[in-house]
Amino acid sequence: MYIKRLISETYESLRLSLIGIVANATALSIIFQDKVDNTLLVSWYITVVMISLMRFISLQLFQTRNHYFTSEKWSDIFTLGVILSALSWGVTPFVFFIPGDYLYQMVFIIILAGLSAGAITALAQFLFNVHIFLIALIVPLLLQLLLQHTTVHLYLALLVFLYLVLLLYVSKKFNKNYTDTARSYFLFEQKRDELLKSEQKYESIFKNVPIGIFFYDTKLIIQEVNQEFIHFLEAPREFLIGLDMNLIKDQRIVPTLKAPFDDIQGFYEGEYRTLYATKDIWISMTTSPIKNADNEVIGAIGIVSDITQRILIQQHVEHQANYDSLTDIPNRISLLKDINKEIIRFKRHGQLFGVIFLDLDRFKNINDSLGHGIGDKLLIETAKRLSNAIRKEDTVARIGGDEFVVLVPDLGTQERPAATKMEHIAHKIHETLNTVFEIDGYSLNISSSIGISLVNDDTEDADDLLKHADIAMYQSKKEGRNTTRFYQNEMDIWVKRRLDIENELRLAIQRDELEVHYQPIVEFSTSGVVGAEALLRWKNGKLGEVFPDEFIPIAEESGLILGIGEWVLSNAVEQFVAWQKQFPHITSFKKIAVNVSTYQFNNKTFLAQVENVIRQSGIKANNLELELTESIIVTDIESVRNKMLKLRELGVNLSIDDFGTGYSSLSYLKMLPFTTLKIDKSFTQDVQDNTDDRELISTIVTIAQNFNLEVVIEGVETYEQYIFTNEKKPQYMQGYYCSRPVSKEQFTVMLDSSNGVCDKLI
Ligand code: C2E
Ligand code: MG
Ligand code: MG
Repeated sequence: MYIKRLISETYESLRLSLIGIVANATALSIIFQDKVDNTLLVSWYITVVMISLMRFISLQLFQTRNHYFTSEKWSDIFTLGVILSALSWGVTPFVFFIPGDYLYQMVFIIILAGLSAGAITALAQFLFNVHIFLIALIVPLLLQLLLQHTTVHLYLALLVFLYLVLLLYVSKKFNKNYTDTARSYFLFEQKRDELLKSEQKYESIFKNVPIGIFFYDTKLIIQEVNQEFIHFLEAPREFLIGLDMNLIKDQRIVPTLKAPFDDIQGFYEGEYRTLYATKDIWISMTTSPIKNADNEVIGAIGIVSDITQRILIQQHVEHQANYDSLTDIPNRISLLKDINKEIIRFKRHGQLFGVIFLDLDRFKNINDSLGHGIGDKLLIETAKRLSNAIRKEDTVARIGGDEFVVLVPDLGTQERPAATKMEHIAHKIHETLNTVFEIDGYSLNISSSIGISLVNDDTEDADDLLKHADIAMYQSKKEGRNTTRFYQNEMDIWVKRRLDIENELRLAIQRDELEVHYQPIVEFSTSGVVGAEALLRWKNGKLGEVFPDEFIPIAEESGLILGIGEWVLSNAVEQFVAWQKQFPHITSFKKIAVNVSTYQFNNKTFLAQVENVIRQSGIKANNLELELTESIIVTDIESVRNKMLKLRELGVNLSIDDFGTGYSSLSYLKMLPFTTLKIDKSFTQDVQDNTDDRELISTIVTIAQNFNLEVVIEGVETYEQYIFTNEKKPQYMQGYYCSRPVSKEQFTVMLDSSNGVCDKLI
C-alpha cells in the first residue's frame, strides 16, 4: 500500500520534471544552435522530446488505466523512463561540450548541475531512480572533462566529482526524509481511516442492533438511547433523553440501574410497567459502569431487551404441561407436584391434608350413546362445578378420562375433624353433581363415586395417596355409586357414625329420645344443694346411649344444637320452677345451670329465647345461670360482651365453664361480665398427687375471688379430692362424690330425702 502510494507520488511529480527537462533541452538547443551540428542537435532534441512524450503517455496511462499493470510494473516503467531520460542526457557532454569555449562549457555545466539538482526532488521517492539519473548525467561529463587534459579541467572534474558525491549523499538523505515522512503520513492516514471505520461501525451497531441500549449519568438521567429502546418503550426520543429515572413509577428496576455506581454489573429480569405507554412487559436488563480515564464511574450503560414474547411462550408451554387441555384445570403432573409439597408440609408441621378421588358414574354410557362431543362438554361442566364447590385453597385436577381429584390442604392436626371436613366437601361435591346437567338440549343426570384418603405417617408419596383414594373410590362404586368411602377403615367407621348421629339426632326431639339429667351443685361450707346443672342425655333406638361429648359437637356443626338447646333450656327451667314449688322449704336451692354452646349463643334469636323462657316459666331471672365455654371469646368480643351485658341486665347469671382447658387469658375474662367460674374437672382429677394442679386451683380461686366471681370446682369424685379442693375455700363443688347426673325423678327423690343437703359431706 505504502509503495503504491510512493509510486503514485513519483508519477505525480513527473509532469513538472518533464516540463523542466523539455525546457532545459529547448534552452540548450537554442543556446547551442550555432555551436553544434544542426542534424545532431535536432536529432538529440527530438530524442529528448520523444522520451519525454513517452513518459508523459506513461503518466497518462498510469492515471487513467492504472489497473493495466501491477504497482511493480508501473515502477519499472517509470524507472525505464528515468534511465532513457538519463541516457539522453548522458550523451550531452559529447554533444554540447564545446572544446576551447569556456563560456559555453560553463553554461552547459550549469544547466546539467541545475538539472541534476532538480532530479533530487523530482525523483526523491526512489533512491535508485535518483542515483541512476545522477550517475548517467554526471559521469559522462566527468569523462569529458578528464579528456580535456588541462589542469583547469582536471580541477573542474574534481569539483564535479565532489558535486556528484554531494548530490548522491544529499539525495540519499532527502530520500530518507521523504520516505520517512511519507511513511508516517501514510500510517497516520491509515490509522485515521481505521478509526473512522470502527467509529462508524459502532455507531451503526448502536443504532441498529435489535437490543435497547441507553446511557445515563450518575444522577440516573438518560443521556442517549438507540432506536430499539425507543421502539419497545413506545416513547418518543425527546421524552426519553433527559428523563430522570428516579421518577419512574415502576421502581423495581431502580436497584439495577444504581448497581453500576458501586462498580458492579446490575441485572434485572421480570415484569416492568412502561412509563409512557403504561403497558406491562417483561424485560431483561443488564447495566454496567462507564468510567473516565481516572477510572471513576461517570455513568452507566443499560442493555435491555423485551422478553415478553419469550415469557408468554414459556408460560404457555408451562400451562400446557400442567393443565388439562380440555377442561383447563390442573392435570395429573401438576397435582402430583402439589401433593408432594403437602406431604413435605405434613412431615414437617403435622398439617393434615387429603385427596378426594372422584369418578363419574356411567360416564362411558353417555360417551357411547351421545357421542364424545357431549361427553367433552359434560367433563368441562363438571370441572367448572367442582371448581366452584371447593374452597380457594383446594385444587381440583383432572387426572384421566372422567376421573377428577380434589386436593384439600390445611385440615389441622386432628384426624377426626379432618375426616369430617373431607366428608363435608365430598358431600358438597355429590350435591353439586346431582343437579341436572343441561347440555346441547339433553338433560343429563350424573352421579359420582368418591374415595377419600387422608395423609398419615405411612404415606410415602403422592402416588401412594392417590392409589389409596382410588381404592376407596372403587369400593364406593361397588357399594352402589353416588357414595363416599374413606380409605382408612377407622375414618370410614368414624365418618359413618358421625353421619348416623347427625341423621338420628335430627329426629331425636320428635321421637322424644332426649332427656335432661341433673347434677347437684353443692356449697362447701354448708353442704347444701344450691342448684343443679342440666345435662343432656340421648338414647337412640339404633345407636343406643350416645354421650354429649360425642353428639354435642355434631349437633353444633350441623346446626341442630339450636333446636336442641332451646328444648333443654325450657325443659330445665320448667323443671326447676316445679322443684321450687314442690320444695319451698329448701331455701338454699336457687340455681339451675344450663349449658349453652357458642353457636347457640351467637344466634340472633338467643336473647329473645331466654326472655321467653323466663316469662313463660315464671322463673326468677337470677335463678338461671347460663354456662358458656371459653370458645366464645374467639368470636367478635365486643358483640359477645354486649349480648352478655343484656343477659346480665335481665338478671341472668353467666358462668364460664371448663375453665383452664381453653386458651382464654384472664384479661379477656375480665372484660366479660361473668358471675361464676367453673374450674374444669381435669384439675381436680389428680389433685391429691399433683402439687402443680393444687397450686393452679388455688391461684385460680384467688384471682376469681378478686374479680368477684363465684367459684365452682367440677369433677370432685373422692373424699380426698373433696378435702384438697376445699383447701382454698372455693364456694361450690360439683361431682360424682356427691352425686352423678341423675334423671329428674331421681333428683326429686334425692331432694326430698336429703332435704337439700349432700349427705356425703355431713
Ligand atoms: P360440662 O358442662 O362440663 O358438664 C360436666 C360434665 O362432667 C358432665 O358430663 C358430667 O357428667 C361430668 N361430671 C360431673 N361430675 C363428674 C365427676 O366427678 N367426674 C367426672 N369424670 N365427670 C363428672 P356430660 O354430661 O357427659 O356432659 C359433657 C359435656 O357436654 C358438658 O360438660 C357440656 O359441655 C356438654 N353438654 C351437656 N349437656 C349439654 C347441653 O344441654 N347443651 C350443651 N350445649 N352442652 C351440653
Ligand atoms: Mg357445664
Ligand atoms: Mg364443665
